[in-house]
Amino acid sequence: MNELEFIARLTENLPSNRFVLTGPGDDCAVVENGSPGQLLLLKTDAVVEGVHFDQNTVPEAIGHKALARCLSDIAAMAGRPLHALVTIGFPSNCQFEFIQRIYAGLNTLAAKHDVAVVGGETTASPDRIFISIALLGSVAKGKCPLRSGAKAGDAIFVTGQLGGSIAGKHLDFQPRLAEGRWLAENFPISSMIDLSDGLATDLRRILHASRAGAELLAASIPVSRAAKLRFRTGESKKAPLTAALTDGEDFELLFTVPSSQAVQLLDGWKQQFPELPLSCIGRITSQPGLLLRSSKGLQPVTEHGYIHFA
Ligand SMILES: [Mg+2]
Repeated sequence: MNELEFIARLTENLPSNRFVLTGPGDDCAVVENGSPGQLLLLKTDAVVEGVHFDQNTVPEAIGHKALARCLSDIAAMAGRPLHALVTIGFPSNCQFEFIQRIYAGLNTLAAKHDVAVVGGETTASPDRIFISIALLGSVAKGKCPLRSGAKAGDAIFVTGQLGGSIAGKHLDFQPRLAEGRWLAENFPISSMIDLSDGLATDLRRILHASRAGAELLAASIPVSRAAKLRFRTGESKKAPLTAALTDGEDFELLFTVPSSQAVQLLDGWKQQFPELPLSCIGRITSQPGLLLRSSKGLQPVTEHGYIHFA
């Protein structure tokens, strides 16, 4: 069973109530809280030693990453983060100063985005550090792009550059909060997701939820310098384009918008966020499946995103 099937099975018959607008299956849950014009966003996420960071990771970076991952999901809903609860587990031989420095990294990022850390829990953990964060946010009604709204003909955009985040970006990335809100406030964004598991996998999530397909243009996919360098030095065997399609933890925004808005959006973006690249990488199709157009013609991107370019 892969992770998608596992989650689908686990979330089959979850209890719900009349306040739930979007349950499991999007970047955040969306619920009514009775306030006119606003909806609540709920998110939880965990980082575990040996999975999301290793023993040599600078503690401040661990705290930063733990919160930034949650913030990135709020960004994908065009939301504003508000309050966080932090649960941390650590082995008994862990130094207090180390934990304090994890919190320092987390607190710096929280303060930057006006997030209050309002409580949490500490617990013993047999042999590894883990941090789990629950985050509450808000979003204006009618301005919250889900994964399910992409329509045939929509243009597909991605922020930043993709691939090779293992070289460092996965620890110090900046969640695209201002960008996500600006997009939804100014354009009819039809779907949005943050890239946690790689472009091919996360785009597939939009396609699955929207019951659509997509055609990507290989030459338009923004490949990071890190992905190119890692291939050139032999550190990674993945060709740069494959890395951009399949590497996890880019934490950029992937979204769709009616193609009639594409030029205006690109122009507005350059004014608003001159330092962050924005690329139009393809279009949504009514035919299901994910295709890549390159000099070799049009070919399917396989199930796990792996395609082999020499
Ligand atoms: Mg996400």
